[in-house]
Amino acid sequence: MNPGDSPPYDPEEPPELPPMQCDACEGALQSPERDMLSFLLLDQLTAPIIGCDDHFQQFASICGYTTDTTADLLDHRPAGGVPCPSCGLAAHTPHQPLVQVAGGAVAILACPEHQSELITRFRTGLDTQHQLTTQLDTAGTRDVL
Ligand SMILES: [Zn+2]
Ligand SMILES: [Zn+2]
Repeated sequence: MNPGDSPPYDPEEPPELPPMQCDACEGALQSPERDMLSFLLLDQLTAPIIGCDDHFQQFASICGYTTDTTADLLDHRPAGGVPCPSCGLAAHTPHQPLVQVAGGAVAILACPEHQSELITRFRTGLDTQHQLTTQLDTAGTRDVL
């Protein structure tokens, strides 16, 4: 790691975090330490993400609706590293867009291409989850996430 080498980011974007109800997420996002990085493995994608345990697990399980396999979470860098070099660099960028997850938020430290792919997956997964929840609702079961 080279401290004098900061990757470019958009200075127009405000550094403040959006309001969120989850202190753990907020803490993780405000002082992202390497230890707090988790790696989401979804199909061919490997993306480092930051958030609290609860919320990145929710994020992963929602993304999991979009794959036939499962979305895995690792709490350490995968043995093969991050396959996309741009994603590998993005892990060192302090400034990342956040994805709101049920009261918390996670940051996806991936390159723009993979970031938007994951966000698309997440949205698709949310729709699927919503449909499943609606079906459950008619049966009188209601799970608040
Ligand atoms: Zn959280
Ligand atoms: Zn990438």
